[in-house]
Amino acid sequence: MTTMTDLEAPEVRDVRRLAEDLDIRTKAFIDGEYVDAASGETFARINPATGIEITRVAACDTEDVDRAVSGARAAFESGVWRDAGPKKRKKVLLRLAALMDEHADELALLETLDMGKPIRDARRVDIPSAAECIAYYGEAIDKVYDEVAPTSESSVVMIRREPLGVVGAVVPWNFPTLMAAWKLGPALATGNSVILKPAEQSPLTAIRLAELGAEAGLPAGVLQVLPGFGETAGQALGRHMDVDMIAFTGSTEVGKYFLRYSGESNMKRLALECGGKSPFVVFPDCDDLDAAAAAAAWGVFYNQGEVCNAASRLVVHEDVKDALLERIVGVAERIRPGDPLDPKTRMGAIVDETQLDRVLGYIDAGKEEGATLHLGGSRVLEETGGYFVEPTIFDTVSNDMRIAREEIFGPVLSAITFTDEDEAIRIANDTVYGLAAAVWTSDVNRAHRAARAIRAGVVWVNTFDAGDISSPFGGFKQSGFGRDKSLHAMEKFTDRKAIWIQLK
Ligand code: NAP
Ligand code: MG
Repeated sequence: MTTMTDLEAPEVRDVRRLAEDLDIRTKAFIDGEYVDAASGETFARINPATGIEITRVAACDTEDVDRAVSGARAAFESGVWRDAGPKKRKKVLLRLAALMDEHADELALLETLDMGKPIRDARRVDIPSAAECIAYYGEAIDKVYDEVAPTSESSVVMIRREPLGVVGAVVPWNFPTLMAAWKLGPALATGNSVILKPAEQSPLTAIRLAELGAEAGLPAGVLQVLPGFGETAGQALGRHMDVDMIAFTGSTEVGKYFLRYSGESNMKRLALECGGKSPFVVFPDCDDLDAAAAAAAWGVFYNQGEVCNAASRLVVHEDVKDALLERIVGVAERIRPGDPLDPKTRMGAIVDETQLDRVLGYIDAGKEEGATLHLGGSRVLEETGGYFVEPTIFDTVSNDMRIAREEIFGPVLSAITFTDEDEAIRIANDTVYGLAAAVWTSDVNRAHRAARAIRAGVVWVNTFDAGDISSPFGGFKQSGFGRDKSLHAMEKFTDRKAIWIQLK
């Protein structure tokens, strides 16, 4: 009998076989070992490409958070990591990065099965970038100096940076390993103990990472992983009196909860990397519409559009709109959703049914508010049991429509036209968010003017989503505060202490 598997290309069969052979870790990692949740509760992980349960994972709650925090505190106070010295911490972090590279196939598969992104991206982008991030902070930590203040000759004032203590890292599901790495790299390098709470939709790589951390030499209690829900485990971390800081990436709505938790508990420090509604501004003097179109299409359709800085608003001059849209459609037609385990697939499944409904709800809202559906607009591949949405483009969008104001977190582009530069900047800034933006122009003066005028944490000129671990990332306005990546990311995991020594 011929099975579906026999009909598949050999490379897909290979990936599927590897996936079937995975030994998936499902428990919390507390004080150096895998444990069940204190309550014994678990929750199901559903593969969004098939709708089928992959496994069940420990559902941690307040009791587990308490245990993890006391373990983290004990590790911190013992000095086993904090006082180990930069050279030791560097060695361990470099070893962890090497282990992530060694296990990249496995981690990429876990990521893809868990949250539906194409294996090609998980393997080529997410896992290598996460490993690179850990290595970067490992490399950096013995090259960052403290300061001596320019006081009078009768004193020496040292301005030291000290780790905060116990850091909770609460992360989303769109780039699970990478978002975790953006927190773990700088937080661990600076000597903190970290408790990582992955999103309920994507805990598998985080759980495995804890074990790799231990193998690399992280002492017990220094890196712990608590899978569970936001309302329970996430909130317990946010409200804990003995957690010194929360490094959060997620929605603006939940970011605001963390502000409240902090204010109502111990005033813990926060870094909030929240949502976005990034404008992709194309001026009529853009001299490469093909390049702009490719960047715009990938800017909003990459990772199924589940990207915080997705180029979801195409702000385009009326004279070039038609030519640009035609080219974007040409690119979009090649980005068809497909089996995430197929190495040729460039767009995978939406993370879960709730998110699928949300995206489809926004598509309906766009139609109801009078925008013109220019491409796509439907759920596809329903027969797989998975949650797939095709690349979707709305034309004649006005910036006050919901599809232009609210974060959709799906493959939906809204085209909005302008007539002059002032209007373009006004539309670009007419949003509560300020995470990222792009400007396409061949006029260097206009490029500088626009880049300065747009209120966003990063403005790309004639490119989109170009990134390097050395370049900071984070938002203005309600996209949050604090920066991930670059040496600046280390600041938020430390406090400055002035040590004043009076001389005789
Ligand atoms: P989310 O719903 O805000 O969740 C983010 C994290 O917070 C998850 O671990 C979640 O846990 C937890 N959480 C949810 N409700 C909570 C509560 N009441 N108290 C404490 N913690 C809670 O975001 P998401 O849906 O996972 O991810 C999408 C969002 O992330 C988008 O808004 C996107 O823009 C943003 N994002 C921002 C960046 C950036 O760098 N600025 C990067 C990537 C994503 P559970 O899921 O388990 O409930
Ligand atoms: Mg969630």
